[in-house]
Amino acid sequence: MYQQHFSPRATSQSQPILWSGQVPNAAGGYVWAVDDWTRLDRFLVLGAEGGTFYVSERKLTVENAQAVAACIKADGGRAVERIVAISEQGRAPKNEPALFALAMASALGNETTRRAALAALPRVARTGMRLFHFLAYVEAFRGWGRGLRQAVGAWYADKPAKALAYQAIKYQARDGWTHRDALRLAHAKPPTAEHGIVLHWITRGWDDVGAEPHPVEAVRQIWAFERAKHAASVGEVVELIERYDLPWEAVPGEWLGETAVWRALLPKLPLTALLRNLARLTANGALVPGDAAVDAVVTRLGNAEALRAARIHPIALLAALTTYARGRGGRGSLVWQPLPAVIDALDRAFYLAFGTVEATGKRIVLALDVSGSMHGGTVAGVVGLTPRVGAAAMALVTAAVEPQVTTVAFSHEMVPIAISPGQRLDDVVRATNDLPFGATDCAKPMVWALENGVSADAFVIYTDSETWFGKIHPAQALQEYRRKTGIPARLVVVAMTSSGFSIADPNDAGMLDVVGFDAAAPQVISDFIAN
Ligand code: CA
Repeated sequence: MYQQHFSPRATSQSQPILWSGQVPNAAGGYVWAVDDWTRLDRFLVLGAEGGTFYVSERKLTVENAQAVAACIKADGGRAVERIVAISEQGRAPKNEPALFALAMASALGNETTRRAALAALPRVARTGMRLFHFLAYVEAFRGWGRGLRQAVGAWYADKPAKALAYQAIKYQARDGWTHRDALRLAHAKPPTAEHGIVLHWITRGWDDVGAEPHPVEAVRQIWAFERAKHAASVGEVVELIERYDLPWEAVPGEWLGETAVWRALLPKLPLTALLRNLARLTANGALVPGDAAVDAVVTRLGNAEALRAARIHPIALLAALTTYARGRGGRGSLVWQPLPAVIDALDRAFYLAFGTVEATGKRIVLALDVSGSMHGGTVAGVVGLTPRVGAAAMALVTAAVEPQVTTVAFSHEMVPIAISPGQRLDDVVRATNDLPFGATDCAKPMVWALENGVSADAFVIYTDSETWFGKIHPAQALQEYRRKTGIPARLVVVAMTSSGFSIADPNDAGMLDVVGFDAAAPQVISDFIAN
């Protein structure tokens, strides 16, 4: 009977598989540690905001920062390239982890790495607000040496004057920083007279804002911004918005309650701002049923290329949808009647934002870890978006394109769940939220498939890899499934937290780790399953 107690083919999850190199996870089970580069990706995409069910935000941040530092030390050039790629391609829901990692590289790397990091500043800090975030981070790591002064100076000098003027009025202050503060420390030589006017306005303001538009076209938006501060009527504000394309951030707060102001802003409202303000636009009557403005919004949300160009991440659409469909704000008293056309447009846009995902035609089991720990923490710090809700939304992207998909959920047992891409995302979120909690056994999907005669070419498991309950490890359960069915089934582990664990055996080429809510993940999963 000794084999009941010890077999390399079936090891209790509370013990490591023999000679596997497994490490204890936070739940008391054994899994593999991912390498620093995988951890870097997880941090860049998922962040550490809110921690996890098991680990505080502070501890998770420290762990991730240590992995980032290790990457910077091992190959600084590769680390900077990775940071820039994930940020520039819009693969992460938030840009803060990239800015934080870039700030680290600009301080902790060797000279070549530091230079590369600072040269990449405008590519990662693409807006004034992001520059302020970067400055807040960088001061934690280094002083204002010549390299940093020049890099920040170049951030201002290398933009066309008109673009610089736009950034200056749109983002005036953040994280304790203003453009004036930044310019005081930076070496910014204005490359043109037009730049000189913008920089002078930032640092000293204008003595006299005349009634006539500024003679220099590139700085006219600044003039309009100054005029708006002293506007006496809604009509005047609306005219400035329409004639000079003032962004909504440049409109004085006292006018932001006016429907006419929002109607004027709406046609040119950037997609990100549109998503953030849908509730407000509906509440104040700028969007009313049957109006052409609603059609315009629906058309814009249906434009895949525009979504990509604006780097609208699927999570931003998911967050906008769940908030908007609720019909009332989280804190304030804002209440609105959600427009069905807008909800449906957001639902479609979620799928569009992942780009084209090719179907493999393979038999795929999508398995959602819905155990208790998946209800702790948030994905990328989005309120209400727990890992298990995120997992359900993520699974739908693959389910929407694949013809042979079975979607299941598990904790320490299989949990009945009925979700389909035909459902609206907010219904899926609600259904997932209402599931009971349980312990975790990530081997369950494979064990279940074997017991029930389910043929699968691939298992895709959405999890935090905090598995501990089962009598057999997930990797062993997969091997047993392959042995008994003769199907060389693959396993994809979709990480829903930025912890350093995985149930995928790094020595098995048939198992892959991807990062949940990496906008590129569904296509990577498809490529791997299609071989
Ligand atoms: Ca769990």
